[in-house]
Amino acid sequence: MKGRRLGSLKLYKFDVPYESDVAVIVVSYGAVEEALRIPLTRYTGRGQGRGSKAGLSKSFLGQISAFFIGPKDSNLLNQISDYIASNFCFKDLSMVPPTCPVLVFHLQTREFGQEDHHVPETNMTTLTPFLLSTLNTRHSILADEDAINRCVPIAPPVTEILDCYRSLEESCSLCEKGYPKEGEIVHKTRCNHIFHGTCISRYLLRTPRCPLCTTHLPPGDIRTLLFS
Ligand SMILES: [Zn+2]
Ligand SMILES: [Zn+2]
Repeated sequence: MKGRRLGSLKLYKFDVPYESDVAVIVVSYGAVEEALRIPLTRYTGRGQGRGSKAGLSKSFLGQISAFFIGPKDSNLLNQISDYIASNFCFKDLSMVPPTCPVLVFHLQTREFGQEDHHVPETNMTTLTPFLLSTLNTRHSILADEDAINRCVPIAPPVTEILDCYRSLEESCSLCEKGYPKEGEIVHKTRCNHIFHGTCISRYLLRTPRCPLCTTHLPPGDIRTLLFS
Protein backbone atom coordinates (compact mmCIF):
# COMPACT_ATOMS: atom_id res chain seq x y z
CA MET A 1 0.00 0.00 0.00
CA LYS A 2 3.00 2.31 -0.08
CA GLY A 3 2.05 5.48 -1.90
CA ARG A 4 -1.64 4.63 -2.13
CA ARG A 5 -4.51 5.64 0.10
CA LEU A 6 -8.09 4.61 0.61
CA GLY A 7 -10.31 6.76 -1.62
CA SER A 8 -13.70 5.15 -1.03
CA LEU A 9 -15.37 2.13 0.50
CA LYS A 10 -18.67 0.95 -0.91
CA LEU A 11 -20.85 -2.04 -0.15
CA TYR A 12 -22.87 -4.00 -2.69
CA LYS A 13 -25.16 -6.98 -2.50
CA PHE A 14 -24.69 -9.49 -5.28
CA ASP A 15 -27.50 -11.96 -5.73
CA VAL A 16 -25.86 -15.07 -7.24
CA PRO A 17 -27.58 -18.47 -7.28
CA TYR A 18 -25.95 -21.05 -4.98
CA GLU A 19 -23.81 -18.44 -3.25
CA SER A 20 -24.50 -17.35 0.31
CA ASP A 21 -22.65 -16.71 3.55
CA VAL A 22 -19.89 -15.26 1.43
CA ALA A 23 -18.33 -11.84 1.15
CA VAL A 24 -15.90 -10.53 -1.44
CA ILE A 25 -13.37 -7.81 -0.74
CA VAL A 26 -12.34 -6.00 -3.93
CA VAL A 27 -9.48 -3.54 -3.91
CA SER A 28 -9.02 -1.31 -6.97
CA TYR A 29 -5.60 0.13 -7.67
CA GLY A 30 -6.31 2.40 -10.58
CA ALA A 31 -7.38 0.05 -13.37
CA VAL A 32 -6.08 -3.06 -11.59
CA GLU A 33 -8.30 -5.03 -9.26
CA GLU A 34 -7.58 -7.67 -6.69
CA ALA A 35 -10.19 -9.63 -4.84
CA LEU A 36 -10.53 -12.04 -1.99
CA ARG A 37 -13.42 -14.35 -1.24
CA ILE A 38 -14.11 -14.79 2.46
CA PRO A 39 -16.73 -16.81 4.33
CA LEU A 40 -19.16 -14.78 6.41
CA THR A 41 -18.87 -15.72 10.03
CA ARG A 42 -22.27 -15.89 11.60
CA TYR A 43 -22.42 -14.71 15.13
CA THR A 44 -23.64 -17.51 17.37
CA GLY A 45 -24.86 -15.26 20.17
CA ARG A 46 -23.05 -17.16 22.91
CA GLY A 47 -21.99 -15.23 25.98
CA GLN A 48 -21.90 -11.48 26.36
CA GLY A 49 -20.58 -8.88 23.95
CA ARG A 50 -23.26 -9.12 21.30
CA GLY A 51 -21.92 -5.85 19.97
CA SER A 52 -21.88 -4.39 16.53
CA LYS A 53 -18.32 -5.54 15.90
CA ALA A 54 -19.04 -9.19 16.63
CA GLY A 55 -18.93 -11.90 14.01
CA LEU A 56 -18.48 -10.57 10.52
CA SER A 57 -16.52 -7.44 11.31
CA LYS A 58 -13.89 -9.27 13.27
CA SER A 59 -13.11 -11.79 10.55
CA PHE A 60 -13.52 -9.16 7.88
CA LEU A 61 -11.02 -6.86 9.52
CA GLY A 62 -8.50 -9.63 9.98
CA GLN A 63 -8.78 -10.54 6.31
CA ILE A 64 -8.62 -7.00 5.07
CA SER A 65 -5.62 -6.27 7.20
CA ALA A 66 -3.71 -9.23 5.79
CA PHE A 67 -4.86 -8.62 2.21
CA PHE A 68 -4.79 -4.89 1.79
CA ILE A 69 -3.29 -2.88 4.59
CA GLY A 70 -0.61 -4.93 6.26
CA PRO A 71 0.12 -4.89 9.96
CA LYS A 72 1.68 -1.42 10.02
CA ASP A 73 -1.23 0.87 9.23
CA SER A 74 -3.52 0.23 12.18
CA ASN A 75 -4.89 3.77 11.92
CA LEU A 76 -6.43 3.04 8.52
CA LEU A 77 -7.77 -0.29 9.74
CA ASN A 78 -9.39 1.45 12.73
CA GLN A 79 -10.99 3.99 10.41
CA ILE A 80 -12.46 1.23 8.23
CA SER A 81 -13.69 -0.57 11.33
CA ASP A 82 -15.27 2.59 12.77
CA TYR A 83 -16.83 3.45 9.42
CA ILE A 84 -18.50 0.05 9.17
CA ALA A 85 -19.59 0.06 12.82
CA SER A 86 -21.12 3.55 12.64
CA ASN A 87 -22.95 2.78 9.36
CA PHE A 88 -23.99 -0.84 9.60
CA CYS A 89 -25.23 -3.03 12.44
CA PHE A 90 -23.76 -6.44 11.74
CA LYS A 91 -24.97 -8.08 14.92
CA ASP A 92 -28.17 -9.23 13.23
CA LEU A 93 -26.32 -11.18 10.57
CA SER A 94 -26.82 -14.22 12.81
CA MET A 95 -30.44 -14.11 11.69
CA VAL A 96 -29.79 -13.92 7.96
CA PRO A 97 -31.40 -16.87 6.16
CA PRO A 98 -29.25 -19.17 4.00
CA THR A 99 -30.17 -17.34 0.81
CA CYS A 100 -28.25 -14.22 1.87
CA PRO A 101 -26.81 -12.37 -1.16
CA VAL A 102 -23.05 -12.11 -1.48
CA LEU A 103 -21.81 -9.05 0.37
CA VAL A 104 -19.25 -7.06 -1.62
CA PHE A 105 -16.86 -4.56 -0.04
CA HIS A 106 -15.24 -2.43 -2.72
CA LEU A 107 -12.25 -0.38 -1.63
CA GLN A 108 -10.88 2.06 -4.16
CA THR A 109 -7.43 3.45 -3.64
CA ARG A 110 -5.81 6.53 -5.07
CA GLU A 111 -2.27 7.73 -5.45
CA PHE A 112 -0.96 9.60 -2.48
CA GLY A 113 -0.20 13.17 -3.48
CA GLN A 114 -2.88 13.42 -6.20
CA GLU A 115 -4.75 15.85 -4.01
CA ASP A 116 -7.33 16.97 -6.55
CA HIS A 117 -8.09 13.67 -8.18
CA HIS A 118 -11.45 12.20 -7.39
CA VAL A 119 -12.02 8.51 -7.06
CA PRO A 120 -13.64 7.22 -10.27
CA GLU A 121 -17.16 5.80 -10.23
CA THR A 122 -17.27 2.04 -10.00
CA ASN A 123 -17.65 0.47 -13.42
CA MET A 124 -20.15 -2.36 -12.94
CA THR A 125 -19.44 -3.77 -16.42
CA THR A 126 -15.90 -4.47 -15.24
CA LEU A 127 -16.70 -5.27 -11.65
CA THR A 128 -19.36 -7.95 -11.99
CA PRO A 129 -17.48 -10.41 -14.27
CA PHE A 130 -14.53 -9.96 -11.94
CA LEU A 131 -16.74 -10.80 -8.95
CA LEU A 132 -18.04 -13.91 -10.71
CA SER A 133 -14.55 -15.17 -11.46
CA THR A 134 -13.52 -14.47 -7.85
CA LEU A 135 -16.49 -16.46 -6.57
CA ASN A 136 -15.40 -19.12 -9.05
CA THR A 137 -18.40 -21.36 -8.76
CA ARG A 138 -20.88 -22.26 -11.44
CA HIS A 139 -20.59 -18.77 -12.83
CA SER A 140 -21.41 -19.94 -16.32
CA ILE A 141 -25.07 -20.10 -15.23
CA LEU A 142 -25.11 -16.29 -15.25
CA ALA A 143 -24.55 -14.15 -18.31
CA ASP A 144 -22.46 -11.06 -17.63
CA GLU A 145 -25.36 -8.75 -18.53
CA ASP A 146 -27.58 -10.60 -16.11
CA ALA A 147 -24.94 -10.40 -13.40
CA ILE A 148 -24.76 -6.59 -13.66
CA ASN A 149 -28.43 -6.31 -12.72
CA ARG A 150 -27.91 -8.57 -9.74
CA CYS A 151 -25.20 -6.41 -8.17
CA VAL A 152 -26.82 -3.52 -6.30
CA PRO A 153 -25.12 -0.84 -4.20
CA ILE A 154 -26.05 -0.72 -0.53
CA ALA A 155 -26.44 2.97 0.23
CA PRO A 156 -24.47 3.96 3.32
CA PRO A 157 -27.13 4.99 5.84
CA VAL A 158 -25.07 7.59 7.66
CA THR A 159 -21.85 8.75 6.01
CA GLU A 160 -19.97 8.34 2.79
CA ILE A 161 -16.23 8.52 2.43
CA LEU A 162 -15.14 11.50 0.39
CA ASP A 163 -11.92 11.78 -1.49
CA CYS A 164 -9.76 11.49 1.56
CA TYR A 165 -6.99 14.03 1.47
CA ARG A 166 -8.28 16.96 -0.50
CA SER A 167 -7.93 20.44 0.94
CA LEU A 168 -11.09 22.11 2.17
CA GLU A 169 -11.70 25.64 3.32
CA GLU A 170 -13.47 24.84 6.55
CA SER A 171 -12.18 22.80 9.47
CA CYS A 172 -13.68 19.81 11.28
CA SER A 173 -16.03 21.08 13.97
CA LEU A 174 -15.26 18.11 16.22
CA CYS A 175 -11.50 18.56 16.53
CA GLU A 176 -11.22 22.05 15.01
CA LYS A 177 -8.35 20.92 12.80
CA GLY A 178 -8.38 21.41 9.04
CA TYR A 179 -8.13 19.10 6.02
CA PRO A 180 -6.17 17.23 5.01
CA LYS A 181 -5.05 15.77 8.29
CA GLU A 182 -2.34 13.14 8.43
CA GLY A 183 -3.72 9.70 7.67
CA GLU A 184 -7.35 10.78 8.03
CA ILE A 185 -10.20 9.88 5.70
CA VAL A 186 -12.88 12.56 5.24
CA HIS A 187 -16.54 11.66 5.68
CA LYS A 188 -19.68 13.44 4.52
CA THR A 189 -22.85 12.77 6.48
CA ARG A 190 -26.27 12.19 4.94
CA CYS A 191 -27.08 15.77 6.02
CA ASN A 192 -24.07 17.03 4.00
CA HIS A 193 -21.72 17.91 6.82
CA ILE A 194 -18.02 17.10 6.60
CA PHE A 195 -15.79 15.70 9.34
CA HIS A 196 -12.65 13.63 9.74
CA GLY A 197 -13.52 9.96 9.57
CA THR A 198 -12.29 9.08 13.03
CA CYS A 199 -13.92 12.15 14.62
CA ILE A 200 -17.43 11.52 13.23
CA SER A 201 -17.39 7.70 13.47
CA ARG A 202 -16.41 7.74 17.14
CA TYR A 203 -18.96 10.47 17.84
CA LEU A 204 -21.79 8.57 16.11
CA LEU A 205 -21.02 5.37 18.00
CA ARG A 206 -21.88 7.27 21.21
CA THR A 207 -24.53 9.67 19.89
CA PRO A 208 -26.23 8.84 16.58
CA ARG A 209 -26.95 12.50 15.71
CA CYS A 210 -25.08 14.99 13.55
CA PRO A 211 -23.00 17.23 15.85
CA LEU A 212 -23.85 20.26 13.68
CA CYS A 213 -27.52 19.94 12.76
CA THR A 214 -28.72 17.10 15.09
CA THR A 215 -30.10 15.00 12.19
CA HIS A 216 -30.71 11.49 13.51
CA LEU A 217 -28.00 9.22 12.03
CA PRO A 218 -28.50 5.67 13.32
CA PRO A 219 -26.57 2.80 11.71
CA GLY A 220 -28.53 0.64 9.26
CA ASP A 221 -29.47 -2.94 10.04
CA ILE A 222 -27.42 -4.97 7.55
CA ARG A 223 -30.17 -7.59 7.38
CA THR A 224 -32.70 -5.01 6.20
CA LEU A 225 -30.18 -3.53 3.78
CA LEU A 226 -29.39 -6.92 2.26
CA PHE A 227 -33.01 -7.87 1.72
CA SER A 228 -34.68 -4.57 0.87
ZN1 LIG B 1 -11.77 16.17 13.19
ZN1 LIG C 1 -25.67 17.56 9.80
